[in-house]
Amino acid sequence: MDRQECLSPFLMRINIIGGGPAGLYFAILMKQASPAHQITVYERNGPDDTFGWGVVFSGRTLANLRAADAESHAEITHAFAAWDNVDVVHRDEKISVHGNSFSGIARLELLKILQRRSEQLGVDLRFRTEVPEVEALRTDCDLLLAADGVNSTARREYTNQFQPTLDVRPNRYIWYGTNQLFHGLTLTFRENEAGVFAAHSYKFNQTTSTFIIECDQETWANAGFATLSDSDTRGYLERVFAADLDQQPLLSNNSKWLNFLVVKNQKWFFENVVLLGDALHTAHFSIGSGTKLALEDAIALFECLRDARDITPALAQFETTRQPVIAAYQAAACDSMRWFEQARDFMHLRPIELAYALMTRSGRVSHEDLRRRDPGFIERYEQEQRAGPSS
Ligand SMILES: Cc1cc2nc3c(=O)[nH]c(=O)nc-3n(C[C@H](O)[C@H](O)[C@H](O)COP(=O)(O)OP(=O)(O)OC[C@H]3O[C@@H](n4cnc5c(N)ncnc54)[C@H](O)[C@@H]3O)c2cc1C
Repeated sequence: MDRQECLSPFLMRINIIGGGPAGLYFAILMKQASPAHQITVYERNGPDDTFGWGVVFSGRTLANLRAADAESHAEITHAFAAWDNVDVVHRDEKISVHGNSFSGIARLELLKILQRRSEQLGVDLRFRTEVPEVEALRTDCDLLLAADGVNSTARREYTNQFQPTLDVRPNRYIWYGTNQLFHGLTLTFRENEAGVFAAHSYKFNQTTSTFIIECDQETWANAGFATLSDSDTRGYLERVFAADLDQQPLLSNNSKWLNFLVVKNQKWFFENVVLLGDALHTAHFSIGSGTKLALEDAIALFECLRDARDITPALAQFETTRQPVIAAYQAAACDSMRWFEQARDFMHLRPIELAYALMTRSGRVSHEDLRRRDPGFIERYEQEQRAGPSS
């Protein structure tokens, strides 16, 4: 097939590896703009299988989604749990910081909405279809989108072309759910004889909250998790967070201890293959941006391809325009990630000081920003600072 010939904006044959947020949303945008595109999504899992629990978005993302596809935006926002507070729990005291804007949604619910919208538009969704042979798929289309997540097969297959750097971080984390409802983005710190544990939790529907637990390698080793079964691990962590969970169990969804992987790629595309979402870059979950970035990547790539008559300049434009945005997010996420990696160094702080340190950890929220968001919080913080340093 002469690739140049079929690159009219009205007809492209697109193969997508991965039916996560990045792959599905890109399929929706392309198909909605030009129904003649032939788009196939290959997804190894079934339509109802997913990892993780809820994901959180900031207010700004939602405006971008509305402009890109009003139908899926309406459904997504209908399913949202929204809040404006970050709660920091330390030494049994809860400090609330208001004036923020977040929304939570079950990851599965988000995927179901995107799957329905894709099907409605005529995208060919092939579930339970593993792609073992990426090159065969690449040569069979005008554009191959590698939206196959953090452990991307395509990125591995074309490692010389993409030149990825994969940075395995030292902390361990495990992604649970719970029926205890946390009304706000709640960051809870608990210490025991093993070390320091941090939980990132928030309600994402009427009955369930995400509950991610993170600790450093030393704490993890001291607690003996290497040899604990799944239920003993949950039992241990339920005891650590007993005061927060109010007797509600931790719910597992094939939950396992992982090390966060920071993914970057020197090159974002080659010939007709482009990386998107977690396959391209990751941002630590403490800034809650991975899904948002995956969806916004899809919007950015779509905008570059929308009027293109040739793939290469469109993909080059995507890389040039999107790269600085991603670099800024990854820098903020990195500061945040490192803060949690050093959490034990902050445990001497008073609760209000810890909350302040957390809110300003990535250097993107200033003292004056916080005053605007929540004057009462800053007033109390300044008052306690005047009273003297923490012991
Ligand atoms: C603990 C934790 C908490 C998080 N919390 C948040 C949050 O609050 N907010 C937020 O915005 N983000 C959050 N994220 C990040 C978010 O989960 C990811 O950034 C997002 O899922 C990326 O979307 P994606 O489509 O790029 O990849 P994925 O969602 O990983 O989708 C990739 C898909 O590709 C499929 N696949 C992979 N290889 C193949 C193959 N060879 N053949 C066929 N199919 C394949 C996989 O099955 C998967 O469905 C969190 C991540 C973690 C680890």
